[in-house]
Amino acid sequence: MADNIFAKIVRKEIPAKIVYEDDRVVAFRDIDAKAPTHILIVPKKDLARISEAAVADEQLLGHLLTVAAEIARREGIDSTGYRLVINKGAHAGESVPHLHVHLLGGRAMSWPPG
Ligand code: 5GP
Repeated sequence: MADNIFAKIVRKEIPAKIVYEDDRVVAFRDIDAKAPTHILIVPKKDLARISEAAVADEQLLGHLLTVAAEIARREGIDSTGYRLVINKGAHAGESVPHLHVHLLGGRAMSWPPG
């Protein structure tokens, strides 16, 4: 059983502002929001990062993205737009070793990311 903070949120051992949950994923508000809407979509399965996903995880990975799009509609940011981000490794700033998709929206964002 994984010991990181998101695995503990998935197991409801520590609280989070959960906005969506089903049998495969949990989504909750980022504790240090970088945009008016900043939600993390997390698989319930212990999967540390995208590079450790296997072919057998493809449906789960797709589900993370379609859930993100559905949450964006519910948050009212579909028409203005949003960004989905997965950070992998030190150069990208990965800080929690449990796969998560960032949903960021509610403001205009620059490109390329810093
Ligand atoms: P990463 O840098 O790994 O892509 O993203 C980790 C994210 O998790 C950061 O945006 C950070 O603010 C968020 N975070 C870290 N600890 C907690 C926590 O205990 N609760 C919540 N809701 N978010 C957290």
